[in-house]
Amino acid sequence: MKQSVISTEQWLEEHLLQLNLVEDMNQPNGFSRLGYSPEEWEAHDIFIQIAEKMGLTVRRDQAGNVIARWNPVNAGNTALPAVSMGSHLDTVKGGGGYDGVAGILCALGAIKVLKEEGFEPTHPLEVICFASEESSRFPISTIGSKAMSGIINPKELQDLQDAFGTTVKQAFESRGLHWGSIQYAEREQNEIKSFVELHIEQGMRIEHAGAEFGVATAVACPIRLSIQIEGKMGHTGTTPMGMRQDALVAAAPLITFISEKAEELSKESEYPIVATASTLTVQPNAMNVIPGTVMLGVDIRSVDDSLKERFKIMIKEKCQTIEKEKDVTIKVETIVHNASIHLNRELSEKLKKIGESLGYSPLVMESGAGHDVMNMSKKWPSSLIFIKCRDGLSHHPKEHATLEDLRIGVEILVGYLQQEAGNDR
Ligand SMILES: [Zn+2]
Repeated sequence: MKQSVISTEQWLEEHLLQLNLVEDMNQPNGFSRLGYSPEEWEAHDIFIQIAEKMGLTVRRDQAGNVIARWNPVNAGNTALPAVSMGSHLDTVKGGGGYDGVAGILCALGAIKVLKEEGFEPTHPLEVICFASEESSRFPISTIGSKAMSGIINPKELQDLQDAFGTTVKQAFESRGLHWGSIQYAEREQNEIKSFVELHIEQGMRIEHAGAEFGVATAVACPIRLSIQIEGKMGHTGTTPMGMRQDALVAAAPLITFISEKAEELSKESEYPIVATASTLTVQPNAMNVIPGTVMLGVDIRSVDDSLKERFKIMIKEKCQTIEKEKDVTIKVETIVHNASIHLNRELSEKLKKIGESLGYSPLVMESGAGHDVMNMSKKWPSSLIFIKCRDGLSHHPKEHATLEDLRIGVEILVGYLQQEAGNDR
């Protein structure tokens, strides 16, 4: 037993480096494999090599997703719905080597363990490497899994640009794909039995709860507000304090309110709510001019959609008070309003029990961040496993998960595959 534990961790370490295209995880500038970039494709190529070496059948779909499949020996079973796992290999700019990679690595690791054990799946098993999950290049996330789940609108997306003016369509086609065919990446309901994504937590809730892994029951999706505060520009030297309409001074209590109120509401509600005043534009942003206009971007998340809605109303009411107090006008616009996604209860419960039976204590939780699983869950029974990551740090060169935590992830995925695709079903 001890021998095989060591070798699984060694295997994980080796393949973690390979999938990250490095020889050392200590990379001061982090990892940069943006969506539909040559670097993402390089990581996909390594994934394909590893999967083929393991005897999996690999194909790339019309959205650039790579699907590695273990077909059952009994050819009659190859048409059964697949038991699937997956995540992504693209990163933010200067990000970490575990966000996304952990899910691909552990899924491959689970296949390796089962192959060594002589497991014979009844259903096909799959590791799906989704294309362009992060929204750091283009202002749209999870393109690959949206396409696979049939919820992509190619016309609406094609002209979105990255920082260099390259459109999604151009980047996509420079990878040898055809934008007009992306919707053909959609898969039929009966092709997949269930889907599980494993991901690093990107937070510290598992550790704080004294647990060893997390099972998410829902993904909190955001309400995003764009708040425009109109004051009046004036000379900073000649305008008396009592005669000002300073838009930035009006923004200050609003920012504090958003943070403090979210904390207060979280304490009294069943589900937490987080809210962030995350962007700020000050005009004219000059040393000697009283700020005339401030644009404030606010991101509100909770799996409790009615709580998010209530919070939005509270922000609007606070804006009305500030308008009177600070002699400004405030316009609140909702730019994103996405209902939260509830994952498959039965599957989450199953994953929790599998982990417990292996001796690991679970934390049942929600996901504050979006992942590919949220799109997959719209069509197939899906769930999400979290493993711990050091200091909750993510999208950062120092992002880290231990080999032990990765191994725990592998063990739970092995249990999932055995239960869902084994002979006893
Ligand atoms: Zn991710």
